[in-house]
Amino acid sequence: MTSIPAMGGPSLPQERRLVTAIPGPGSLERLDRKKAYVADGVGTMLPVFVVAAGGGIILDVDGNALIDLGSGIAVTTVGNSAPAVTRRVTDQVAAFTHTCFMITPYDGYVDVCEQLAELTPGDHAKKSALFNSGAEAVENAVKIARAATGKDAVVVFDHAYHGRTNLTMAMTAKNMPYKHGFGPFAGEVYRAPMSYPFRDGQSGEEAAARAIDVIDKQVGATNLACVVIEPIQGEGGFIVPAPGFLPAIAAWCASNDVVFVADEIQSGFCRTGDWFASDDEGVVPDLVTTAKGIAGGLPLAAVTGRADLMDAVHGGGLGGTYGGNPVACAAGLGAIEEMKEHDLAGRARAVGERMRSRLAALQAEHPVIGDVRGRGAMMAIELCTPGTTEPDAARAAAVSSYCHSQGVVTLTCGTWGNVFRFLPPLSISDELLDEAFDVVAEAFAATV
Ligand SMILES: *Cc1c(COP(=O)(O)O)cnc(C)c1O
Repeated sequence: MTSIPAMGGPSLPQERRLVTAIPGPGSLERLDRKKAYVADGVGTMLPVFVVAAGGGIILDVDGNALIDLGSGIAVTTVGNSAPAVTRRVTDQVAAFTHTCFMITPYDGYVDVCEQLAELTPGDHAKKSALFNSGAEAVENAVKIARAATGKDAVVVFDHAYHGRTNLTMAMTAKNMPYKHGFGPFAGEVYRAPMSYPFRDGQSGEEAAARAIDVIDKQVGATNLACVVIEPIQGEGGFIVPAPGFLPAIAAWCASNDVVFVADEIQSGFCRTGDWFASDDEGVVPDLVTTAKGIAGGLPLAAVTGRADLMDAVHGGGLGGTYGGNPVACAAGLGAIEEMKEHDLAGRARAVGERMRSRLAALQAEHPVIGDVRGRGAMMAIELCTPGTTEPDAARAAAVSSYCHSQGVVTLTCGTWGNVFRFLPPLSISDELLDEAFDVVAEAFAATV
């Protein structure tokens, strides 16, 4: 069974349209094939099979047009098949598809590294290494920090998500579904308490002191290679630490010969209204990991950081067959071009304001919404039994399935599965965004 050819990108009509139930008969047929040939462990949240996507719309095999509030998990920030991505990828595919940068290099890889040096926080000398996935970038950040410091231990935080490889499973907090039954995990990974204002009521300084005390007593700076933190946590529930928390942790790292690694894989590349979430408080990480939004949907990831740290690794110590593949690099350069050309950081702030006002109004009507939080186009609501912090995952699931049935792609997240995260592509129109939040409002009214 092959999909119907269809044009995506900005030329796709920008309207929600439901012509069958969700999923429709064409998708149900394909789900049977998936069941036969794809491992059950690979789940699908909203099982409509896609033929085209662009702007703020995802078109399925049955002709349903859904509004996208997820960007394939913060990946298609520039939109699906964004013009500069399509153009550069098409040209690159026609020229050559692979040589392996470690064998015979090419410009695209170096161009991406130059852009990363320019765009990531801080104006010190920076270098990068490119990889295929976020998890791979995180693993390599740890390798670099260990090589540079000669120390072993890694500190991560409660609710953290860093990936699904063995080391990054150890770094990820949540058991189900990411870790369950997959151990034993890599050693020398320690967990500190995160700043979680909705639940701990602590200031950034208080929460940082609490975390540093745990690190100091349970690990010790002389054993510690790096602290790895998401400046705004992603899968863990879009937890925005209280102001002052990140600068205090970064300052402690700086004065203790500990590498401060910002995992900006979900929060980076204009998502939060800055190039990086670290920019908000002027935090300058030693190393930054990026992936997701970096390349408009193609697999590309990077570690970028202080040249002296990056160069601490012996020659040949970093790499991989596909890391910085020329087609992925072309896509990365295309995505960055779109972000600069269309001021997508500014667009993220505007989208964020629009979402925040809709969500605040919704919260006033529905006390199950305990918290509205986020920054830019990375917004979330946390659902709890009214007046408490008792998670209400059942309501989140009910609201979610209502939205899906009405053709709005919403994503949930959080340690308790009770958080909605809103990550629309920045190519979405105000009209579609408003319509999507009308549906979210209907979903709250229609569920209990
Ligand atoms: C998604 C994510 C990762 C893992 O990226 P993959 O490309 O899925 O390996 C790591 N860290 C954060 C913060 C993420 O959001």
